[in-house]
Amino acid sequence: MRMSTYFLPTLKETPSEAQIVSHRLMLRAGMIRQTSAGIYAWLPLGWKVLQKVAQIVREEQDRAGAQELLMPTIQSAELWKQSGRYDAYGKEMLRITDRHDREMLFGPTNEEMITDIVKTFVKSYKDLPKNLYHIQWKFRDEVRPRFGVMRGREFLMKDNYSFDLDAEGARLSYRRMFLAYLRTFARMGIKAIPMRADTGPIGGDLSHEFIILAETGESQVFCDKKWLELDVLADNPDANGDLKDFFAKYTSVYAATEEMHDAANCPVPAEQLETARGIEVGHIFYFGTKYSAPMGAVVTGPDGQPVTVEMGSYGIGVSRVVAALIEASHDDAGIIWPDQVAPFKVALINLKADDEACRSTCDDLYAKLNAAGVEVIYDDRNERPGAKFADMDLIGIPWQLTVGPRGLKAGTVELKRRATGEKLELSLEEALAKVTA
Ligand code: ATP
Ligand code: MG
Repeated sequence: MRMSTYFLPTLKETPSEAQIVSHRLMLRAGMIRQTSAGIYAWLPLGWKVLQKVAQIVREEQDRAGAQELLMPTIQSAELWKQSGRYDAYGKEMLRITDRHDREMLFGPTNEEMITDIVKTFVKSYKDLPKNLYHIQWKFRDEVRPRFGVMRGREFLMKDNYSFDLDAEGARLSYRRMFLAYLRTFARMGIKAIPMRADTGPIGGDLSHEFIILAETGESQVFCDKKWLELDVLADNPDANGDLKDFFAKYTSVYAATEEMHDAANCPVPAEQLETARGIEVGHIFYFGTKYSAPMGAVVTGPDGQPVTVEMGSYGIGVSRVVAALIEASHDDAGIIWPDQVAPFKVALINLKADDEACRSTCDDLYAKLNAAGVEVIYDDRNERPGAKFADMDLIGIPWQLTVGPRGLKAGTVELKRRATGEKLELSLEEALAKVTA
């Protein structure tokens, strides 16, 4: 992508309405634009990151055996009356009336709709288990939308729903999602700690919130410092196994939100306890027959008798994760994207756009990087070098490859690593080899 044509409306001033760093940086980096309170347009750079985050979520869902589908945003109130949640959900639900005076709503979540779909087609124990997910926009009319996409009203969520014949199967589905969540966040380069949670309005008997530690988090959390060393990707448990040992290992290390933490009875000694703020990026529930019973999701069991299916639901705030990643990784100059979710891998900077040698070298590097499948943003604008460096630092591209007239005479270019600031003088070939590796 050439900067001269890219739609990247970066801001020099700090927007006064933004209270937390991720919101400020997302606005300054031209990633989002607020269109109404708590509702945002995702501009090209933001959209690219959102898709990368969604893709990692998708790959880990697929790996765990969940299947992707897509349900609509607009739902019929009828289904919510069946489950009893239509009145219970309150003002967070955006209620809509269509031209035939039918009651509709913009979905805040999808338990009812997926239960209705599954019960229509799944009639026998032989059709179970099933685990279905989608990545879709939700609307919740939050009392206080704030912090940009961190707590929006319209936001992107991955939500999935498991259906099992019995409690044992449902607990296995839960453990598989527990692993999938740990892997998902680890792959994005962040540590999300599962904390035993209240089941709240969704109801049920087993639930974990996945929380990223960050100063601007909305909740107070407590965890054993051992959490900072656990590495689920290195552990790499067999996702098809029963995962009991894995689950026991990862739930035995203490971690709790304020609501669940009891200072007087905390099993972790004070010097071993980390007290921090946290951002909830995911939430998983096992709730048994809470929806399947009232909605009649029943299959024929192996003995010919009807069985009400056991369900769980699992959410990741995909759009919130983008902001949480920035909270976890930035400096005074801007965002520092982890490689796995960076909108571009390489920032190619031409220091002197009107110099013939610089231009042809950059055009050539740009072509080679594109041919090698490396995502590159090429600053080919006629701008001051300082402004170019500041923009690339702001948008957080992991590698900056700078071409200037002085280096070129000596046959070198400069390669900077955004995260560490480390700079290397390399030949063109060496620089190419390093960023295409
Ligand atoms: P919260 O306590 O933050 O309101 P929740 O318990 O209502 O979250 P869930 O219903 O479990 O959230 O939704 C799954 C995930 O969706 C959450 O873990 C969070 O990451 C994300 N999420 C929920 N509400 C919002 C919102 N208003 N804006 C952005 N993301 C959200
Ligand atoms: Mg909420």
